Amino acid sequence: MSSEAPRTVAAGGVERLRRRVADWDVWSLPRRVRLPVLLVEATAFMLVIAFLPESVPTATDLALTLALCGGALAHTEIAVRVERARRRVHEDLHVDLTSVWTFAAAVLLPPTVAAGVAALVHSYVWWRSWRPRVPLYRQLFSTATVVLACLAAGGVVEAFGERAPIIGGPRDLLAVALALLVYTTVNSCLVAGAIAMSVPQADLGRLFGHWDDNALEIATLSLGGLTALALSINPGLVVFVLPPLLVLHRAVLVRHLEEAANTDPKTGLLNAAAWHSLAERELRRTGRVDGPCGVLVLDLDHFKAVNDAHGHVVGDMVLKAVADEVASEVRERDLAGRFGGEEFVVLLAGPDRGAGAELEAVAERIRCRIAALQVVVPTADGPLSVSGLTVSVGGAVASAVSGGDLQSLLQVADAALYAAKRAGRNTVRMGVALPTQASPRGGNGAQTVGPVPRTRAAEPPAAAR
Ligand code: GH3
Ligand code: MG
Ligand code: MG
Repeated sequence: MSSEAPRTVAAGGVERLRRRVADWDVWSLPRRVRLPVLLVEATAFMLVIAFLPESVPTATDLALTLALCGGALAHTEIAVRVERARRRVHEDLHVDLTSVWTFAAAVLLPPTVAAGVAALVHSYVWWRSWRPRVPLYRQLFSTATVVLACLAAGGVVEAFGERAPIIGGPRDLLAVALALLVYTTVNSCLVAGAIAMSVPQADLGRLFGHWDDNALEIATLSLGGLTALALSINPGLVVFVLPPLLVLHRAVLVRHLEEAANTDPKTGLLNAAAWHSLAERELRRTGRVDGPCGVLVLDLDHFKAVNDAHGHVVGDMVLKAVADEVASEVRERDLAGRFGGEEFVVLLAGPDRGAGAELEAVAERIRCRIAALQVVVPTADGPLSVSGLTVSVGGAVASAVSGGDLQSLLQVADAALYAAKRAGRNTVRMGVALPTQASPRGGNGAQTVGPVPRTRAAEPPAAAR
């Protein structure tokens, strides 16, 4: 037999490997994201190797490692359905509850052993619960951030003296508290950095999570600190960590389900029912403090033409892009919702947003943003650019209607929207309603509705490749 055959087999194997590597999702990341991600992973790997000589585990370390890994695996298995459901309803999770185990490992174990426990626990949860929603490259990055957080937190504990046993004296408690702060800071900043590079216009909430995400992170790490204290007394105490952790896990799922029930899945804005109930509450609140409050109703012009030209899938992506524009123009406390179809609604409160001229200025800014919007949609035939979108907007201020009745406010804004349409579209109109009787807040006096003309040049909509 000639030596050609094995050489051909080897070449085929190399070619297959090359194609597999070329298929990795990580190469599809923009260069500005890929390089820092690979840098973070390489740094974590090199630090783990560098700490290897000083990480020879003692018998106590091995017992603690066994307890932490056993606890983490049991937690993962018991909570597997809850965690899968959590990932299903919430794509962008900032907090995962494995940090109870990884933080305890950082506090108790030598650096490389702690990093090993963190990598094992993270990989196991990914394997059981997060795959395939979390692609491998993202999983590797988040494991690297956790490893770096563990090394940094472990460094703090090390700086305070001996690692285990931690007996709970004031110095130990201070060490654990500082380690907790360092752990969450390192982890959050690395994740926020990666998000900032992939989504340059991301707001602080998207970068660092919302207030309740951070409260959950602190709660989880605190439980991790208590776990470390308990385990350094007796590793068997790990069984008492599981029940509160599982209850916390379920409570977090309930919060995510609540959020999903309030969210319009196509646009990420509030859905109509959630918007109504939150808007009623906000109107009552602003009624009490007597702050100005207004509503904008927006309707995309000739949106049917976009669907007819490019199909509903592209139409949906355009709706999402428009919703993002509306959301970026208003503040987090303003309520932006999808009313249905290609109609949006925003409630703005406060003297700088909810009063007549201010409300109209916000409407005008939204109108200009949509007119300038260019949505690039990937299609089988290459990127498709949809532009020339316009929106008509109707506004109403609570004080000009019936002093706070949402239904009347919406009717006035809706009438103003129709007037904007009649005036040629791509237009903002503010509605005025004259109460027939001086009705108190929440009153329902009959009204005549007449929009104040403030017409902008109407442009024909266009969607072009
Ligand atoms: P006008 O300027 O009068 O508002 O014209 P229009 O075409 O926007 O208004 P019309 O109310 O006649 O049609 C609304 C269109 O919005 C109809 C439908 O094709 C589209 N639409 C409604 N909901 C959705 C959706 O969820 N996804 C997509 N892609 N299109 C939707
Ligand atoms: Mg419509
Ligand atoms: Mg429309």
